[in-house]
Amino acid sequence: METVALVGRPNVGKSRLFNRLASRRLAIVHDQAGVTRDVNSTVVKNHYTLLDTGGIGLVVDMDHEKLIEAAEAQVWLAIEAADLICFVVDGREGLTALDETIAEKLRESGKRVILAVNKIDHEGMEDQVDEFTGLGFETYFPVSAEHGYNSSQLEREIEVVVGPAPEETDEPEEYRIHIAFAGRPNVGKSSLCNHLLADERLVVSEVPGTTRDSVMLDLDFQTKDEKSIPFRLVDTAGLRKRKRVSHSIEYFSTLRTRQSIERSDIVFLVVDAESGVTRQDKALAGEIMDAGKCVALLVNKWDLAIDRFRGNHPDGYENMEEFKRAYAASALSELFFLPDSPVLFVSALRGFSMDKVLNQARALWETSGRTLSTPKVNAVVHGLIEKKQPRYIDNKRFKAYYAVQTGNRPFRFKLFCNRATKLDDGYRRYLQKGFIKNFKLQGCPVQFELRGKE
Ligand code: GDP
Ligand code: GDP
Repeated sequence: METVALVGRPNVGKSRLFNRLASRRLAIVHDQAGVTRDVNSTVVKNHYTLLDTGGIGLVVDMDHEKLIEAAEAQVWLAIEAADLICFVVDGREGLTALDETIAEKLRESGKRVILAVNKIDHEGMEDQVDEFTGLGFETYFPVSAEHGYNSSQLEREIEVVVGPAPEETDEPEEYRIHIAFAGRPNVGKSSLCNHLLADERLVVSEVPGTTRDSVMLDLDFQTKDEKSIPFRLVDTAGLRKRKRVSHSIEYFSTLRTRQSIERSDIVFLVVDAESGVTRQDKALAGEIMDAGKCVALLVNKWDLAIDRFRGNHPDGYENMEEFKRAYAASALSELFFLPDSPVLFVSALRGFSMDKVLNQARALWETSGRTLSTPKVNAVVHGLIEKKQPRYIDNKRFKAYYAVQTGNRPFRFKLFCNRATKLDDGYRRYLQKGFIKNFKLQGCPVQFELRGKE
């Protein structure tokens, strides 16, 4: 997803413009120049990330030097973070020295810039744009953030760079959550699929155009309480029982697994209760993470564990629930790089409630689509770094200035820091886990990209 950043000195109308583009009614606009506020970001029409860098480094009653410093920090962030910069100036007040400073930085960066001359509330004021032509930006036009004059032109100019917005239909068809069962041979994937497909609350239809080797099925699942939830089961080739698996088929099945992971939104990593998490399972989990997909663990053949539990009480476990908890914790510690995924215990043989699995898929889908509040994201980042500093090479302290969410599914964050220290895997995971815990993102991958100032 592309990022568009609003840049400009205080009070030119960036907040207003932000709210207009984001179609937010609730405008938090500060009438006073230089009131502290944070970086604000939002996803507009499920289409691009909009970033208002306006608040960076600003405090009340700033002197001119500080103001320039703050503007520089802003511009730096925007250049780093954005694909397109919307430079906002105040058409009523006219061109100022600070505008020229910002313009120079932007020109040097070579980034695509559009110049929005704001506060031109009606046609009669358009002449006021002229004095800004000297700033040297190819694309410039008058707008009024407050009254909406020309705002459609602004939207069009943004679309030139980020592409057209996805069409909104009156009754948007509900998105089919793509799910897949992945796992090594014999863990019970086909048995699980068959159990799923045998559920009478499921309306199954084959997706047209899919081939014999990669079948996709549309599933409409009738839940107890509400209407049906649309899923798409990606690659059910596992349904057809392979008699003998030759070497090359094994290879293709690996390839196919990879493809079905790529195509799905939610992957159920199926493991065998008896053998626990194996090396192959770990490798597969790694692939799911690389693909940035949500993942839940399905511990299948749980019937065998139950039998064993009944037959001879495993040491120290009072009851089945406690045993499950211990099992889940141990499996997740093997798969420590997963995003603290939910663990479900099932038995394709004895049967189990498919609701649990599909509801889990839906919950993961919803969680993974969230847009997190920027101030909270920053508070969490700062809190985590304060609690534990990453290792550093020379004696300089690591500092993170701001964090912004740049996307979801998977969650992506850009972290702007004093240096582009390469975070070691351990620390990166520490941050990921911290995010997952604070925002309750269990099962959803979280990715960080670091941007240094040097
Ligand atoms: P920011 O500091 O750049 O984010 O600026 P704000 O969005 O907080 O706006 C600063 C002031 O300018 C507010 O009092 C707004 O009401 C006013 N303002 C913003 N856009 C317009 C506009 O299009 N026309 C007029 N007349 N005033 C505007
Ligand atoms: P796949 O290769 O992952 O698709 O695995 P299959 O579904 O073909 O299952 C492999 C073997 O495990 C078969 O013999 C199944 O009968 C058996 N199996 C699958 N699920 C269960 C289960 O929940 N409990 C037990 N005890 N056996 C199972």
